[in-house]
Amino acid sequence: MTNESLKIPQATAKRLPLYYRFLKNLHASGKQRVSSAELSEAVKVDSATIRRDFSYFGALGKKGYGYNVNYLLSFFRKTLDQDELTKVALIGVGNLGTAFLHYNFLKNNNTKIEVAFDVDEGKVGTFIGDVPIYHMDDLEKVIAEQQIQVAILTVPALAAQPIADRIVQGSVKGILNFTPARLSVPSSIRIHHIDLAVELQSLIYFLKHYPTEEE
Ligand code: ATP
Repeated sequence: MTNESLKIPQATAKRLPLYYRFLKNLHASGKQRVSSAELSEAVKVDSATIRRDFSYFGALGKKGYGYNVNYLLSFFRKTLDQDELTKVALIGVGNLGTAFLHYNFLKNNNTKIEVAFDVDEGKVGTFIGDVPIYHMDDLEKVIAEQQIQVAILTVPALAAQPIADRIVQGSVKGILNFTPARLSVPSSIRIHHIDLAVELQSLIYFLKHYPTEEE
């Protein structure tokens, strides 16, 4: 999953999926080239940042021509490991977890939720789409068998840390944490934390206190 030879700044790396998705759409509509101004408008990143980001990829835009869409796409595909399927497990098949199981991640990325886990006997042994739901008792065994690399946590906050402690023993290298709990994990494990309630609150705060200039 990792690409050790490539050293690009983290902030740039975070924008890669954004660029990738937009370029894929451009490519699908038959466009061969794109200017940093067009990209900037579409992905809402200023064009100086885009030019700097792209210089890390070895993509040098030409004045009056822009960037070659095919070159960028093949670079992103390699960098984001689009050719290699990343196996994902989802833990906690509640409202949010169920929505993720219905969501088609393959549309934009080469990632797939392969398995799900829950403690609810009514859910264990059933499928959502083609994803089987296993009991938490089988967590370590199934993760090892399937070589799961990423886990999505959509369990109640109190359940999150003990589950994190269990999964970091195996093949899991990254956790996408949707619970409000702040998790402690070994430094070799990467955690991205998405608290939807906090994000919503923060958006509302900014709307109230920092109205956008255009309006
Ligand atoms: P959501 O928070 O996703 O909207 P919900 O309100 O339906 O879900 P929660 O109580 O948040 O339900 O639980 C989410 C899911 O996590 C449920 O399906 C629940 O059975 C499951 N769950 C609870 N505890 C654990 C645990 N220790 N391990 C795995 N799954 C758990």
